[in-house]
Amino acid sequence: MTAGIKDYWQNFIGGVWVDGANGARIPVENPATGQVIAEVARASEAEVDRAVAAARACFNARTLIDMRPMARGRMLLEIARHMEAMAEEIALAECLDNGKTLAGGRNEAMAAARYFTYYGGATDKIEGRMIPLGAGYVDYTIPAPFGVSAQIVPWNFPLQIAARSVACALATGNTVVLKSPELSPLSCTFIAEACRRAGVPEGAFNLICGYGHDCGASLVGHDDIDHIVFTGSVGTGQSILRAASRRVLPCVMELGGKSAGIVFPDADLDQAAASSAIGIFSHAGQVCSAQSRLLVHRSVHDEMVDRIVRRAGALSIGPGIEGCDLGPVISAAQLDKVEGHCLAAQQAGAEAATGGRRVDRAGHFMQPTIFVGVRPDMQIAREEVFGPVLAVQPFDEPEEAIALANGTDYGLCAGVYTRDLRLAHWSAERLVAGQVFVNEWFAGGIETPFGGTRRSGYGREKGQEALLNYIQTKNVGIRIESGAGGRPGG
Ligand code: NAD
Repeated sequence: MTAGIKDYWQNFIGGVWVDGANGARIPVENPATGQVIAEVARASEAEVDRAVAAARACFNARTLIDMRPMARGRMLLEIARHMEAMAEEIALAECLDNGKTLAGGRNEAMAAARYFTYYGGATDKIEGRMIPLGAGYVDYTIPAPFGVSAQIVPWNFPLQIAARSVACALATGNTVVLKSPELSPLSCTFIAEACRRAGVPEGAFNLICGYGHDCGASLVGHDDIDHIVFTGSVGTGQSILRAASRRVLPCVMELGGKSAGIVFPDADLDQAAASSAIGIFSHAGQVCSAQSRLLVHRSVHDEMVDRIVRRAGALSIGPGIEGCDLGPVISAAQLDKVEGHCLAAQQAGAEAATGGRRVDRAGHFMQPTIFVGVRPDMQIAREEVFGPVLAVQPFDEPEEAIALANGTDYGLCAGVYTRDLRLAHWSAERLVAGQVFVNEWFAGGIETPFGGTRRSGYGREKGQEALLNYIQTKNVGIRIESGAGGRPGG
């Protein structure tokens, strides 16, 4: 259907590429044109069963756990090598089914490979403890994998997000069933191909693509999974938590955000404006950690707004394949939702300093939008839009800025723009967020722990902390001397 990519993409179960039941398929659209570009095999309950069974068999055979950790690490490094080798194909897939530029797609490929490299280097550094119990006893802990890890990812950064969870799971000896997003499923397929080429044991990694309401719900409700990693919206997360509660499954929840940057009057305004534009317009604002709110000291409010409006005006809007700065949002429904938020903001009294409407062209393009006159009670100040829409509010005192920043139900990221280190530190301590950026939105990397507070979820991905979500401590207490009696007070 589109030159350069395959027409049809299969699922990967037990080390083999497979179709959906009765040949069922899901059409995949290019959001920059609205045209169907490919189809992906549609997994339903039967494929979920098969994928979970394959992962269970591999886990029970202890294939990954009994490998020397160093060998498991080398396996992950091999996956990374194959991902890098496929970077151009991955970039094109990300460009065509997700709306990224080719450069952005390459970045996704290299970041995904980096997760396998990073956690590949960690496999032989995951250690237990020896706990002294006095004479006659030896006690130690084992960092044990959970078993079959069911993982569900969203459409905005499916490859990177999948890579961070899959790499952690395999590094710690879990096996994985990954459900890719139905709207942008193509790039996750390359993880499966890299696993195949790297000789990853059959069943250690399985990929299925299906709709959330049947495939996703069957996976998280399955009786033979041991662990859930979910990245997506709050509503879906809540329904997954209800399913998980039935079997008391441990979960990692990476959910939405409404993150605020604070511009103090001493900030380098040019730097703050550049960073803010990146923070809200990258990937058309479809970023969980987007800087979707900006709180600006009243003395620099108008100047700051002017600067970001100018940056918004300089963005080229169009398909990623043409290298445009601002690509499409993922679907017609998402465009309706984003524009609906803008209309509601205007009806509530906010003023669009720029943008506020869809772009009149084929595909799903939204104007870069900046709202001023935003009150804290407005929907535009409280709810995640997931589009290129920034809500700006003035403040007078630092305490007020912190209260406004902390004033939503979310708590994913927050940011501070100031030259005053004391003020930056004071703010970082008070902001309710899993990650605080100072003078650069998105400052961080694969090495830095990432995750939410409040409705943004719990658990941490990325960095060394993430490994803790994929292991559970087992304590082994040994009495090494024979004789009657036990230890009092145990
Ligand atoms: P979504 O919740 O609609 O879908 C996410 C995934 O869940 C998809 O694969 C979907 O098929 C699946 N799903 C849907 N219903 C399901 C169900 N009942 N049971 C099981 N699975 C189901 O989210 P989305 O629209 O794809 O992504 C956007 C959201 O993701 C935003 O809220 C964004 O903030 C969040 N997000 C969070 C992070 C993070 O790391 N915190 C990263 C990226 C995106």
